[in-house]
Amino acid sequence: MENYDYLIVGSGLYGSIFAREATDKGYKCLVIDKRDNVGGNIYTEKVEGINVHKYGAHIFHTNNQKVWDYITQYATFNRFTNSPVANYKGELYSLPFNMYTFNKMWGVVTPEEAAAKIEEQRKEIKGEPHNLEEQAISLVGRDIYEKLIKGYTEKQWGRDCKDLPSFIIKRLPVRLTFDNNYFNALYQGIPVGGYTKMIENILEGIEVRLNEDYLEKKHEYDAMATKVVYTGAIDAYFNYSLGNLEYRSVRFENEILDKPNFQGNAAVNYTDCETPWTRIIEHKWFEFGKDEYGNDLPKTIISREYSSEWNPGDEPYYPVNDEKNGVLYKKYRALADKEKNIIFGGRLGEYKYYDMDAVIASALHIAESELK
Ligand code: UDP
Repeated sequence: MENYDYLIVGSGLYGSIFAREATDKGYKCLVIDKRDNVGGNIYTEKVEGINVHKYGAHIFHTNNQKVWDYITQYATFNRFTNSPVANYKGELYSLPFNMYTFNKMWGVVTPEEAAAKIEEQRKEIKGEPHNLEEQAISLVGRDIYEKLIKGYTEKQWGRDCKDLPSFIIKRLPVRLTFDNNYFNALYQGIPVGGYTKMIENILEGIEVRLNEDYLEKKHEYDAMATKVVYTGAIDAYFNYSLGNLEYRSVRFENEILDKPNFQGNAAVNYTDCETPWTRIIEHKWFEFGKDEYGNDLPKTIISREYSSEWNPGDEPYYPVNDEKNGVLYKKYRALADKEKNIIFGGRLGEYKYYDMDAVIASALHIAESELK
């Protein structure tokens, strides 16, 4: 029965890269995925000539030279730079927090004036910040916290900012320069032709079976391979026996509009608490509004993102890396360590708020230690 060296469960970035590395080293691999498409959440689908990020916007960015050299073997990246706009009750602000934001918020003109304003407002936090609210105020002051952080964060996480870990907000840079580039990354862009094409290139020549649910026929699949690489949710693997880890899920409401330009930017965040969606993505701007031949596209596709608590049957998107879940994850991790012949990896397998480049680094790292 054992026909494969590795059974890889999940064809997202982690699983695909592991399969590529193992295949290139002469191991026989089978990749299965319960969806009818490869790519996991980076999957893109072409509609009206536009690559739609079906499971949420993904903007590749990295400072890791090794990761960049690796991934560019499988895709050419365009020069897209992420500069989201925040819409607070019709007022528009530049993100991440930089001199344009501070000028609009306070009318300050120089970096010194901005720094003084932040300094004056952050004083209310004494000592080390204990949660996201305190961390945010100590980074940028109360005005920005109230208008640009609180509503968005509470919608996205479904939790009060006082109950969220501060590290989430540390993802956002604060700059005293006029720089709207969201990421502090040396390399950034979107794969030309979409992420699906990139994943297909990574998986070239590797056997892939779609619509296959590993957990439904676990014994059967386990008998097929010497080792398993599992990239699904770690709690699902153990049948939620210790209780379920919390995730945030996202619902997308997609619309094709018969106009060329809806919001003039790929991402607009709605940072008030009343608007029910967190952000609107207008997919064509990831590729400058052009089709693959460089022609302007007459229509546009937008996705409103609604964040919700994950319930069984939903797609998990974001692990809720707070203390309580961290403790539970450690218990699952201990169970995982006792399992033989299986590697748990990726955002769901490791219950970690990974960016794509970190997933690639992690898959390459495991591949190096695992594959001799
Ligand atoms: N965030 C915010 N306001 C914004 C955008 C982000 O307060 O307009 C906060 C929010 O807490 C969010 C975190 O910053 O969870 C990280 O945002 P990022 O855009 O990096 O999240 P992702 O792209 O992974 O959804």
